[in-house]
This record gives sequence, C-alpha cells and structure tokens, in this order.
Amino acid sequence: MGGRRPRPATARPDVVQCPEPDLPFGRAVVPGRRPAWRSEMRVVVDYDRCEGNGRCALAAPEVFMVREDQAVVLIERPGEELRAKVERAVRVCPRQAISIVDEG
Ligand code: SF4
Repeated sequence: MGGRRPRPATARPDVVQCPEPDLPFGRAVVPGRRPAWRSEMRVVVDYDRCEGNGRCALAAPEVFMVREDQAVVLIERPGEELRAKVERAVRVCPRQAISIVDEG
C-alpha cells in the first residue's frame, strides 16, 4: 500500500517557513512577531569600570570571559535564550560595568 502521506510544510497556518536561505534549517517566522533567534540585545562593557573579577563569566560563560584582568565579550549580540544569564551578569557585576542595549 501507499507510503506515508507528505507532511504539510507547517501545521500552523500563521507560521510560514523562513525564506532567508542563510538561516538555520527548520526555522520559521511568525508574521508580526520578532524571530527569537534574531537578538536585538547588545552587550556593552564599560572598561573604565571593569576590574576583571570574572563574576560575569561565572554568570554567563557563553557570553563573557576574562583575559588580562578584563572582561571580554564573546558574543556581542547574544540570542534571547541567553538574556536571563546576561541579565544575571549585569546584576552580579559589582562595578556596574555591564549594560544591555536593546536595539529595535
Ligand atoms: S563582573 Fe563586571 S567588573 Fe567583573 S569582570 Fe565582569 S564586567 Fe568586569
């Protein structure tokens, strides 16, 4: 008997497959909603304040590391999935050296 029925492109009519070829396979765009992997968050460190104690790297090791007694931002525009960790880094920085700039 016949094989499997072909799967529809999407189960939700309000979700369309992203037409941009450089995006990861399987990503989808919901019209009118910002894609979650398109970060609008930019991480900024004020190096005049940073004392290199590394608390940010403990809070968000994907985003920060410490080299030569200064924080290094590994991902300037981390994805939204890292926002909570970056916000924790902002909170634990004793020098208030980290800012999140939301760019829209
Ligand atoms: S927590 Fe603040 S002071 Fe410490 S390394 Fe990170 S940015 Fe610098």
